[in-house]
Amino acid sequence: MIFLDNASTTKVCPTAYEVIKLVSEDLYYNPSALYGEALKVKNLIEGARRDIAVLLGADANEIYFTSCATESNNWAFERGIKNKKGNIVVSSSEHASVYEAAINQKSKGIDVRFAALNADGTVNEEDLFSKIDGNTSFVSIIHCSNETGAVNDIARLTKKIKQINPAILIHSDGVQAFIKCGARIKELGVDIYSTSAHKIGGLKGCGALFIKKGVNLAPFVSGGGQERGLRSGTENVPGILCFAEAAKRYKAHYDRKQIKEMRDYVIRELLPLGVIVNGTENAEAILSVSIPGIKAEVLQHMLSDKGVLIGLGSACSSRARNNRVLSALGRTSKEIEGSIRISFGIENNLDEVKAATEIIRSDIVTLRGNIR
Ligand code: PLP
Repeated sequence: MIFLDNASTTKVCPTAYEVIKLVSEDLYYNPSALYGEALKVKNLIEGARRDIAVLLGADANEIYFTSCATESNNWAFERGIKNKKGNIVVSSSEHASVYEAAINQKSKGIDVRFAALNADGTVNEEDLFSKIDGNTSFVSIIHCSNETGAVNDIARLTKKIKQINPAILIHSDGVQAFIKCGARIKELGVDIYSTSAHKIGGLKGCGALFIKKGVNLAPFVSGGGQERGLRSGTENVPGILCFAEAAKRYKAHYDRKQIKEMRDYVIRELLPLGVIVNGTENAEAILSVSIPGIKAEVLQHMLSDKGVLIGLGSACSSRARNNRVLSALGRTSKEIEGSIRISFGIENNLDEVKAATEIIRSDIVTLRGNIR
């Protein structure tokens, strides 16, 4: 298989198996128990917290482990919005876990404002700032779009947002950006930032939420008081330890130049077929293209039969016929129907990308029924 759907998930890092074995056979104790063996597990978790914090440029006590980024994003919205009479502003390129959390707020009577996108997939700053005012209590802007790969300049945006209204709580979904965009959290200036393990070689079902020191976010999941009272539930020990292992490995192996070279190659080869690149050509790990005259689902099936795995927009929303983000970019429903997402990771290399691109080209030509 040539796996080019790394934005949906990634191959689990090889050292994960040793970690799982360790905490399944030897150190399987509940980290909250008081005997010495359990303390060893607790210490391993604290080590993983420090690792994730270092990679983000945060303090360890600003990191909270959750069950996934979907939970983290919901937590941010459910507990971060305190002024129930005010408004919140959200970009139009958010993942479903942010979009739906925002829509939930709307159903509670909060004025939810969506900021428009530029043709390159980034948030339109003029529109964003025009929607923020003295009654805005919360802003959420995705760091790197899971649909198009477009990267928002979060540092610049947060600076301007805080100038307009310093009381605004700023959340950013960093799931597709963590490690890859190399950003330091202090420079980003956000209050809350979500990450997910399985996008960078960790196990599915584990996330880490950065909550800036001094930001008061009430618990979303209550119970036994784990995670310093803010996120209850017995810790996902293998998930947390593998997250730290995988993140360090991803950081060591992620070469932006190499990833971009693979993406640029696919663009160069597909452009003569009249494809439209959705969003900027300068993104890196994610490429979304609309291919006029084909149905992406049919192409995806043909490719998977030949061992090439690609995505259709976001995997989490692939069942939805319409694609909110591509619509916001001005794509027609016909263009959306013909949109595929190819996403790269550290396990890919240019040779396999070249082989996959040849198959993609040939299947597009077959589907169109003519030879170019
Ligand atoms: N946010 C973005 C940008 C994503 O791409 C995803 C996963 O597709 C999520 C959030 C949800 O992450 P998780 O699978 O950890 O809930």
